[in-house]
Amino acid sequence: MTEDIQKARLIMTLRHHGIRDPRVLEAMEEIPRDLFVPDTFRDQAWADTALPISCGQTISQPYIVAYMTEQLEVEPTSRVLEIGTGSGYQAAILSKLARRVYTIERHRHLMEDARRKFEQLGLTNIETRIGDGYKGWPEAAPFDRIIVTAAAPKVPPALLDQLAEGGIMIIPVDSGPLYQNLVRIRRTADGFEREKLIPVRFVPMLPGIARRKGDDN
Ligand code: SAH
Repeated sequence: MTEDIQKARLIMTLRHHGIRDPRVLEAMEEIPRDLFVPDTFRDQAWADTALPISCGQTISQPYIVAYMTEQLEVEPTSRVLEIGTGSGYQAAILSKLARRVYTIERHRHLMEDARRKFEQLGLTNIETRIGDGYKGWPEAAPFDRIIVTAAAPKVPPALLDQLAEGGIMIIPVDSGPLYQNLVRIRRTADGFEREKLIPVRFVPMLPGIARRKGDDN
C-alpha cells in the first residue's frame, strides 16, 4: 500500500471514530508521522497505534492525539503548553493550530531528536525546554491551553496556576495502576471545572530530569 493510501485510511478511521474538527484532520494529514517514528516501525507510521520510541517512551496513538487536540479547542491565537514532548509529534500537530507551542521533556536525548524534526519541517513556533513538567514553564505563563501527554497521579498544582482564566487543560489522571481518565479542566473566574472524558493509557509522568538515556528516573 502506498503511503498516500495509508494516510487516507488513517484520516477515514479518525473521522469514523468521531473526529470532526477540519483543522485537526488537516493537521493530522499535513504532519508526516513517519518522520517521528523509529526507522524499524516506519511501515506502521500511518496505522492507528501507539509505537515505541527511544528512552522507553511511546508516540501516542493517532486517534488519541487527534482526540486530545480536538478537546483542547485550540484557537489560532492560543499559546499552548505541552508536557512530555516525546517524539515531538503532538507538538508538531499543535504548531499547525496554535500561535505558539511551549513543550517540555525530561529526556535530553528525546528533545534533541524532536528539535531536529521541528527544524526539518520548518515549524518555527515551537519553543522547547529540557526540564520537569511538574514545574511547568512559569516565565512563559499563563497559557491558554495546557496538554499533558504523560500520566500524573494528580493534576500538578503548578500547571493549574499557569492556566489562564478561560483556559483549558487536558491531562490523563491515574485511575488505578493500569489506566487513566482523560480529564478536561476549564479555568473560570470562580475556579476550575473538571470533566471526565475517556479512559486512556499513557506512560507515567516522572519527577525531575532523566539522568541518562534509557534511565527511567
Ligand atoms: N507527546 C508525545 C508522547 C509522549 S510520551 C508524542 O507526541 O510523541 C510521554 C513523554 O513524557 C515521555 O517522553 C516522557 O519522557 C515525558 N515525561 C514524563 N514525565 C515528564 C516530566 N515530569 N516532565 C517532562 N516530560 C516528562
